[in-house]
Amino acid sequence: MTTRRTFLSGALASAAAASGASLKPLTLSRTPVVLSTWETGMRANDKAWEILSYGGKALDAVEEGVRVIEDELNCCVGLGAHPDREGRVTLDASIMDHRFNCGSVLFLERIKHPISVARRVMEKTPHVMLAGEGAQQFALDEGFPLESGELSPDAARGYQAWLKKTGYQPRARSSTALAPVSPQNHDTIGMIAIDESGNLSGSCTTSGLAYKMRGRIGDSPIIGAGLYVDNDIGAAVATGQGEDIVRVAGASSIVEAMRRGLSPEKACRSVVEKLARVRRDQLKDVQVCFLALNKQGEYGGFALRSGFSFAVRTAKLKTLTASRFLW
Ligand code: ASP
Repeated sequence: MTTRRTFLSGALASAAAASGASLKPLTLSRTPVVLSTWETGMRANDKAWEILSYGGKALDAVEEGVRVIEDELNCCVGLGAHPDREGRVTLDASIMDHRFNCGSVLFLERIKHPISVARRVMEKTPHVMLAGEGAQQFALDEGFPLESGELSPDAARGYQAWLKKTGYQPRARSSTALAPVSPQNHDTIGMIAIDESGNLSGSCTTSGLAYKMRGRIGDSPIIGAGLYVDNDIGAAVATGQGEDIVRVAGASSIVEAMRRGLSPEKACRSVVEKLARVRRDQLKDVQVCFLALNKQGEYGGFALRSGFSFAVRTAKLKTLTASRFLW
């Protein structure tokens, strides 16, 4: 865990105390911090850091950062990601700022940057969530181009292999198992950041679980599950099996645990432990992973199982960290 440095000179403080002078509030110099999920977070953090290190806002950093990954058409997020079991990519995203403003899109098709559409929902509508056709129409009205909807070459190959392996017939309802979330098979980037002014924001963007049922929505666009920010306390973001993250209201539960005084890592751990307690027999092949950042710039992550990593960027650090885990 790393601590944000706030500079209050010890010498200055003790001199003031010795002289009996009352200490005036100082303007605290803050060092921004950004963290994001998985190895892809390294590239997203680079972009976010360009903004944060020049005094930019956390909200801009978390939007621009994850857009980099949405742009990578052979990656795990955005239109290049794994499709649903009917072979179509449907995207979910959410964004939240330091004033409880939030926006999200669900089941969005053929739009390259769902995170930016989510931000427009937040800034230009009285709503928090837009889904499906309505979300797509809103994106078009806002000037986002309609993309082709074709699978990327990697996604198309993976989908054909999955169809062969499972024998799944598109349009037939089936209980075919979902592909479990692993370092090679995850479709989300979540990012949380604090800026020089001490304001927190977060973003989360995903194509959801690979080969999900058509219409399925996970945790990522649900404020309080996949993402939550309370600027007095901290921010949290999730990746992994969305159904289990929703069940425990993952991100907001972590923020509440930090409010009770737990460190970011312990707060993440407390929610993973709760899930393990309440769903113990139903977590075979399930991965759930959380990241948290508090108002002091301390951060941490925790996962149900091994394999989760997260990227951290501060003025002194640029690193990919293997998360601690329960099992
Ligand atoms: N959390 C995402 C979902 O359930 C999946 C992921 O993190 O890869 O939609």
